[in-house]
Amino acid sequence: MIDQARRLVVVSNRLPLVLSPGADGGLVSKPGSGGLVTALLPVLRDRGGVWVGWPGIADHTAEVEAALDRSAKKAGYRLAPVALSAEDQAGFYHGFSNEVLWPLFHDLQSLCNFDPSYWRSYCEVNHHYAQVVLAEARPDDFIWAHDYQLLLLAAELRRAGFTAPLAFFLHIPFPPLDIYLKLPWRFTLLRALLEYDLIGFQTLRDHRNFIQCVRALMPDAHITHRTRRVDLPDRRGVSIGVFPIGIDAAAFQRQARSAGVTAAANALRAELPQREVILGVDRLDYTKGIPLRLEAFRLALRQYPELQEHVTLIQVVVPSRDDIPQYRNLKTRIEQLVGEINGEFTRPGGWVPIHYVYRSVDRLDLIAYYRAAQIALVSPLKDGMNLVAKEFCACSVHGDGVLILSEFAGAAAQMQNGALLVNPYDIEGMANAIHQACTMPHAERQARMKRLRQGVSRQDVFRWVNTFLEAAIARDLDAFPLPPDYVPSAEAEQAYWDTAFAE
Ligand code: UDP
Repeated sequence: MIDQARRLVVVSNRLPLVLSPGADGGLVSKPGSGGLVTALLPVLRDRGGVWVGWPGIADHTAEVEAALDRSAKKAGYRLAPVALSAEDQAGFYHGFSNEVLWPLFHDLQSLCNFDPSYWRSYCEVNHHYAQVVLAEARPDDFIWAHDYQLLLLAAELRRAGFTAPLAFFLHIPFPPLDIYLKLPWRFTLLRALLEYDLIGFQTLRDHRNFIQCVRALMPDAHITHRTRRVDLPDRRGVSIGVFPIGIDAAAFQRQARSAGVTAAANALRAELPQREVILGVDRLDYTKGIPLRLEAFRLALRQYPELQEHVTLIQVVVPSRDDIPQYRNLKTRIEQLVGEINGEFTRPGGWVPIHYVYRSVDRLDLIAYYRAAQIALVSPLKDGMNLVAKEFCACSVHGDGVLILSEFAGAAAQMQNGALLVNPYDIEGMANAIHQACTMPHAERQARMKRLRQGVSRQDVFRWVNTFLEAAIARDLDAFPLPPDYVPSAEAEQAYWDTAFAE
């Protein structure tokens, strides 16, 4: 059972709201709508608590405080802002978080910019967050920090003599030793992370990588309880757990069945009659594997000409981080490929193979896309979890969608029993999977999607929050079953290739 006595203090890079200028010259705030916010809301309301984070506006002012107070009254918990200057944002967020940790933790070390000034800014800003937590938290609170922006928070809090329990969840992957070793600040960062009492990862893969780094870099660490506890001399022990995050599946299902979404999905389908609609939805990010996916789609059209005029790919790309050169180059590359593929295959009379949407879509439109599509193509090069894969399944209310999923998405471990797993670097394998999905018998589609939908509903985000909090109280993780692992099997791969070339 969750210890109801402790208040919860959530710390994340951003506060769960969006502030924008209002008509009266002040600021209006819109509450955040992600699954994490929805799942934490009842816990924060019941136990009381505070959410600490950056409000999204540099150098915040009295208007920001006033807008946050108004939001907090509605939300039922306190919102404590961390003031960050534009310079802080540049070094800590755009710099160290997004140009060092993000590519490194996704195994793309060649894209890292190990600028030492970024590291200094990251340390300073983690110190800032700690100062706000110290001002807000009581000694008997329970602190839950989120994600790669706050790896040093526990160390900062402990240095200030703070003794309350500190838990951390990493939403992105943790890299294998050989890649982690590239980080110039590898020892400091690992030691700092071990100042938390509980560290949660998305998958066994990340847990394994982390333990491998601790073993190699910290010979004084004692690893016990089947690698779920790390003890260091003169320190409190750290529990290491695996908690794959879920979505608010019931809400997605409900909205997918609503009259508005049904009408929007039907309208989309009417525009693309007699066609399999394949859907990709990604932030503009080099980890999402969009160019290789487009190349695989092109190969599928070349290799299986019968797919031409019968398959349409809708690729939604949500603008993101376009102030970083690599992201701008990626956008150019995607647009070039879309142009090439549409140029090669578009037929007079109507068929355009790729419908490319470069903007953020609102939630109901996104759900209409999920419902209208028969196939989701989710092929990140590496991903902490990938919520799009789970959202597509929750919205496949007729139970006959097919999920093609990268084996390097965290979601692969839970979804391997229903998805067609692909190696996102293997263009031929992906092209074959596209063909397999398009020609999959209805009964097989239904059997696979049933398993996927059951998993997504059962392991939703509310269960994730509860399990994490229970683990934080229990400390001994033996009672918490480990989720399934995913390791590619040579037999499955052989069987796959045999089928792919059977005709
Ligand atoms: N999403 C969004 N706006 C859009 C399209 C998608 O907010 O225009 C949401 C989508 O519903 C999903 C999230 O963005 O919840 C993407 O999460 P995912 O884990 O797939 O990838 P991330 O972008 O976090 O790396």
